[in-house]
Amino acid sequence: MDFWATHQCIPAEGRLVNVGGRSYRHCRCEKCGRDFVEDAQSGEQYAVNVSVFGFDRLAEEVNRRWLDQPCPQRPLASDETDRSIPRQGGG
Ligand SMILES: [Zn+2]
Repeated sequence: MDFWATHQCIPAEGRLVNVGGRSYRHCRCEKCGRDFVEDAQSGEQYAVNVSVFGFDRLAEEVNRRWLDQPCPQRPLASDETDRSIPRQGGG
C-alpha cells in the first residue's frame, strides 16, 4: 500500500529532507502520528522514527505491517511498542 494514499500527510506531498547526501520525502500523518519516508531516488518507502540524526527505520515486521495497513485514523497505544522494537540486521 502507498502510504501517501492512505495517510493524511503533513504536508500532503511530504517534506523534502536531506540525510547523509540522500533526499527523502517525509510524511507525518496528522491522524495517526506515524512517520514515513520515501527515498526520493529509489522510491522505497518505510516507516521511521524521527530523531535528531535523521530517520531511524523501524523493525522490519513493524515496517511491513504499517505499510500494509490503511491509516488507523487515530494514534494507537500499540504504536509506542512498535516504535521501540529494535531493528534486526543491517541495510
Ligand atoms: Zn495515518
